[in-house]
Amino acid sequence: MKIFVVNAGSSSLKYQLIDMENEQVLAKGLCDRIGIEGSLISHKAADGREYRTETPMPTHSEAFEAVVYALINSDAKVIDSFDEISAIGHRIVQGGAIFKGSCLIDEKVLEQISDLGVMAPLHNPAHVLAIRACIKTFGSEIPQVAVFDTSFHQTMPAKAYMYPLPYEYYEKYQVRKYGAHGTSHRFVSDRVAVLEGKEKSDIKIITCHLGNGCSITAIKDGVCLDTSMGFTPLDGFMMGTRSGTIDPSAITYIAEKENLTPAEMNTICNKKSGMLGISGVSNDNRDVGAAAEAGNERAKLAVDMQRYEILKFIGSYITAMNGVDAIVFTGGIGENDPELREYICENLSFLGVKMDSVANKNRGKEIKITTADSGVNIYVVPTNEELAIARDTLALVK
Ligand code: AMP
Repeated sequence: MKIFVVNAGSSSLKYQLIDMENEQVLAKGLCDRIGIEGSLISHKAADGREYRTETPMPTHSEAFEAVVYALINSDAKVIDSFDEISAIGHRIVQGGAIFKGSCLIDEKVLEQISDLGVMAPLHNPAHVLAIRACIKTFGSEIPQVAVFDTSFHQTMPAKAYMYPLPYEYYEKYQVRKYGAHGTSHRFVSDRVAVLEGKEKSDIKIITCHLGNGCSITAIKDGVCLDTSMGFTPLDGFMMGTRSGTIDPSAITYIAEKENLTPAEMNTICNKKSGMLGISGVSNDNRDVGAAAEAGNERAKLAVDMQRYEILKFIGSYITAMNGVDAIVFTGGIGENDPELREYICENLSFLGVKMDSVANKNRGKEIKITTADSGVNIYVVPTNEELAIARDTLALVK
């Protein structure tokens, strides 16, 4: 059975075709600059054959046409017809409090995803456009499944997801914590339970998804107890360009001083803050790390701040769960930054954490980075959100 996985944004469309017999990726690719001049598709088959071409893509429909050509007709083709595709799984950013799990897409679901666009204006409307274009291209016989970044966090208790604002804003506008990266947190925590040889219901795990966007989740009894991202993915701790949590008064004060609208201030917090804002060098941790090594004081400060904030979130979730059995790092930074992991391990020595410094040198590899006698086991598990989406899709269409 082959599952096609789609991650669509307003101007891009990432995809993978996965053979679920062996969970191997047959092909993956990206349509970029949809709706903009210079649209292009880059497609790669598992055996290394590639197909890249510039072709007009005024809408997602043309992008899907290009994908179908790449999959079926190009020099890097991997199937003979799209009859071979059993189902299509879509990554959806915001499922609100409506979607507590993945579901088959029908007209009502599309309307609900569209309505939730008020909370994810950059993502949900694009998902709906892409799904409609996908149905048009692949036909309505192929089942389509929605997998939400927020679903995994729907188990949070009200004491974790409510904001201490006047209650009417929750009632009127559903302002509360929803979290994000849920598919990744679920994927790596499931894997850690296997590595620990325990039932999911019998283990306390802290998952650290550290990439350009970062979030940390506390998972107890197999479900999310709390997570660092909030009403939007701006919440939590500093990321590539996002500020994470700060005193809201600092925001209103700056907005008043600089005569900025709420929307302009929001853009500053989302796009000009975090590692970029502090270092003034880059949003990319590799660049900031290199600048810090070269003696750039602001880059050093950015690295120190981010590590300290990650440590504090881990600490608070250990307390919230009254302990922790395993901690896992994933995402571009979590998988590839041994120094950050070393800092965290060193500062958890009060729990008896003992790092295996040889294992910790690995990058991008599933590995336990603590010794056999460590008080808490710490792992690196590369995330695979596409595979998680494909598994959910398969489970629903079976
Ligand atoms: P992601 O959003 O998961 O793709 O992660 C992107 C982030 O991972 C960027 O900040 C990269 O700098 C960071 N990253 C990727 N590779 C490395 C590496 N080898 N060392 C440190 N950070 C890395």
